[in-house]
Amino acid sequence: MDNVRVRFAPSPTGVLHIGGIRTALYDYLVAKKLNGTFVLRLEDTDRSRFVPGAEAYIKEALEWVGIVPDEGPGYGGEYGPYRQSERKEIYAKYANQLLASGNAYFAFDTPEELTAAREQAKENGNHTFKYDAKTRLQMRNSLTMSEAEVEELLETNVPYTVRLKVNENEDIRFEDKIKGDVKFNTNDLDDKIMLKGDGMPTYHLANVVDDRLMKINLVIRGDEWLSSTAHHILLYKAFGWDHEMPVFAHLPLILKPTGKGKLSKRDGAKFGIPVFPLGWNGPTPEESFLGFKEFGFDPKAVVNFLAFLGWNPGTEQEIYSMEGLVKDFSLDKVVKAGARFDYDKARWFNQQYLMNMDPALLMNEVRPIIEDKGHQPSEDFLKTFVGLMQERVVVMTDFWEQGYYFFEPVKAYEEKPIRKKWKKERLAQFEDLRSRINSCRPFDAATIESTVKNFVEETELGFGNVLPILRVAICGVMKGPAIFEIIALLGKEEVDRRLAVAYEAFNEIGK
Ligand code: GLU
Repeated sequence: MDNVRVRFAPSPTGVLHIGGIRTALYDYLVAKKLNGTFVLRLEDTDRSRFVPGAEAYIKEALEWVGIVPDEGPGYGGEYGPYRQSERKEIYAKYANQLLASGNAYFAFDTPEELTAAREQAKENGNHTFKYDAKTRLQMRNSLTMSEAEVEELLETNVPYTVRLKVNENEDIRFEDKIKGDVKFNTNDLDDKIMLKGDGMPTYHLANVVDDRLMKINLVIRGDEWLSSTAHHILLYKAFGWDHEMPVFAHLPLILKPTGKGKLSKRDGAKFGIPVFPLGWNGPTPEESFLGFKEFGFDPKAVVNFLAFLGWNPGTEQEIYSMEGLVKDFSLDKVVKAGARFDYDKARWFNQQYLMNMDPALLMNEVRPIIEDKGHQPSEDFLKTFVGLMQERVVVMTDFWEQGYYFFEPVKAYEEKPIRKKWKKERLAQFEDLRSRINSCRPFDAATIESTVKNFVEETELGFGNVLPILRVAICGVMKGPAIFEIIALLGKEEVDRRLAVAYEAFNEIGK
């Protein structure tokens, strides 16, 4: 495909969910792979659901994962404005065109009349009322009223809508790039509203008109929009643009971590996992959340994870940079079935990234986390710390959570090993160990290690009785990097102080 133009068209009606970022990512990968253009368009015609700050959030989230639109609001481009709310006149013009060609009509039904029609349908045993070829002639619209009546109503400023006139029993077929052959019948469709009472277009009209005017030739979007495509195709036909329709590609659903049902915004709180890229401060605590960023994810790992949420290269390779994805990504390998949101897999990707990152670069990212806790470690200290922890952390926040004791005294001691291993009568021996460690020269890991080894041999206590005590005394927990390295990094005085404090506490715990 030449000159491919794709668009990401979110509605700023709330916080962009991680599924939206996946759509944007696939858009971006295809555009970059084919030297095409990635357009950001804001579909903000639903003013009642507009959320201030949502546009800024969308842009920040995209940029966080490394996606910068080629065109869009604030990014320039020849096909703007890129906010639909700034294109009202354009849609009115196209709605008029539909009216003039007989593909649309004015509808004057009030909300009460529509409710009554729904009730009536229920009474007649039809569960849902559908405004369509079968019912439109019983409604109040320009097809059932005289021209004079319509003229008069239009002049009186009563609210009206413009509806698409969908013909009966026509098949609509198209070849979806991912789903394959898709078929609809117009008998299942309604006469969708094109222009609303407030003069704003609906999603359908604005989306099709803009895709056309912005020369979009490949539409990549979530599975939930597949059924709308039927109306969109009817619109392309009505405008006479059907010889140049974009290619459609509907992405697989993202499923809950359980694999059952669609991942929803509420699943974040439910499963204690991030489902948004970045945090958001909503008006209430229930509407505020942390994102992948605050959970300690590297955006590169998030990109890697999202790329694999519905796609794989068909090889063993799992670790991909953005450049690698641009090279290998293809819609042909996107799966049809839903993709499970496997949070453990997201963590695995992040772990791989952190493990393989250049410690010098990683250090720069760890520093703010530590500084934020009120500590100013030296370059050397931080470098050794990062080197010791790098292989063990999964997310960035683990550096502090699992390694706070490098910077401040132990907050609590893991009690099980103390109860099992601490014997009061050995206190004198452990005091001896404390002074031996304190006298190590040089105070480095190798010297400390051989000192402890000698102690274990001489006392015949065995490593199993000494190392856990030493580790819990210094770190509070049993899990962590090589203990002799930790001791060396903390330094003589600090270690000596910690051992003294710990022995006292152990005497209490181990009573
Ligand atoms: N505004 C729609 C959304 O919020 C766009 C769907 C599409 O890409 O056509 O996702």
